[in-house]
Amino acid sequence: MTDMKLSQPKAARTINTARVFGCLRTHDNLSKAEIARILDLNKVSTGEIVDDLINRGLVTETGKLESANGRRPTCLSIIADAKYVLSVDIGSRNTTVALCNLLSEPVHLERLPTKTDAPKVEEFCVEIIKSCMRVMRPVDKEKIIGAGIAVGGKVSANGRIIESCPYLPWKDIPIVEAFEQVLKMRATCRNSTYALVDAERYASFGSGLLSSDAPIIYIEWGNSVNMALVCEDRVFGEGNSFAHLKVSPTGLCSCGQIGCLEANVSAWALSGNSDVHLKDLWSRVEKDSLQCMANAIAMTVQITGSNKVVISGEGATITDYCLRELAKLCPGMTIERSHLGEKANIMAAAEVALDKWVYMTSMLAKMRTWL
Ligand SMILES: [Zn+2]
Repeated sequence: MTDMKLSQPKAARTINTARVFGCLRTHDNLSKAEIARILDLNKVSTGEIVDDLINRGLVTETGKLESANGRRPTCLSIIADAKYVLSVDIGSRNTTVALCNLLSEPVHLERLPTKTDAPKVEEFCVEIIKSCMRVMRPVDKEKIIGAGIAVGGKVSANGRIIESCPYLPWKDIPIVEAFEQVLKMRATCRNSTYALVDAERYASFGSGLLSSDAPIIYIEWGNSVNMALVCEDRVFGEGNSFAHLKVSPTGLCSCGQIGCLEANVSAWALSGNSDVHLKDLWSRVEKDSLQCMANAIAMTVQITGSNKVVISGEGATITDYCLRELAKLCPGMTIERSHLGEKANIMAAAEVALDKWVYMTSMLAKMRTWL
């Protein structure tokens, strides 16, 4: 549960500890024997790892399982509040800062307006960091593992710098350095749509929503509209212009153009107000707006050959009615709602940190492709 160096002899144990812990996240009430079977790990090692996790206060024995042959193995669960991560989602209109537990559930959260016109990036970073200090105040700082930051822009490969972002008027923001210096806390940053894809895969109980032969169009729908393509284990398209596809003759966009997708279907476009949640707007979404989204999907399909769309972000709250109407406008496509629910973005930013320092799911997935 720390940074791992592959050359260390303890690497195998570190990897298997992350695997056991991840297994307990995605399955309820497992016994040691079941964990060993699921992970194809020997029982002795599994037992040692579980005992170590119990001693470290991260896992607890929750009771006895019923069993047909009379033996009653003990079942195990993660202690969700044993550790926390900070989740920072920098959206186009609002930024959400939350303290989340090991199951990515927000414990305390704050929302602040995203300063897109601040003369100095430092002022906005200071506001974010002050908000972080407030949300983490109720818990012992020792229990906070690090901060995950999600932003709808292009992030450097090492996860330290926001290279560009359509709604932030600056280039190359060293956001992680700011966290390290002021909060004395490690941090890591990821494109918000990619972060949602990770959370969908890793935190939503292996739903299988993202398994498909053709590329999946994964749409983050909220106060802006972002899209990533998911193909097998990979995700593409960071910093694409999906939000600014021309889908309508009307609608003045933040980019200055007329008729962009974002200017017709984002929460601010639907409500005229940047502080309204998409989940409260679905009854106001008319066929024209759904047609705009369908047009953008149709253009993407022409290029990618996708046949499935997953709606996520605040869009994970899309009503059955809107989902059905959208599907009618996209013949031949499967349109599905994300399993992440209304806290999708908060969970996604939390997952950025949890994946790096706790569950290591993305690294384990990469290792499987090497073998
Ligand atoms: Zn635009």
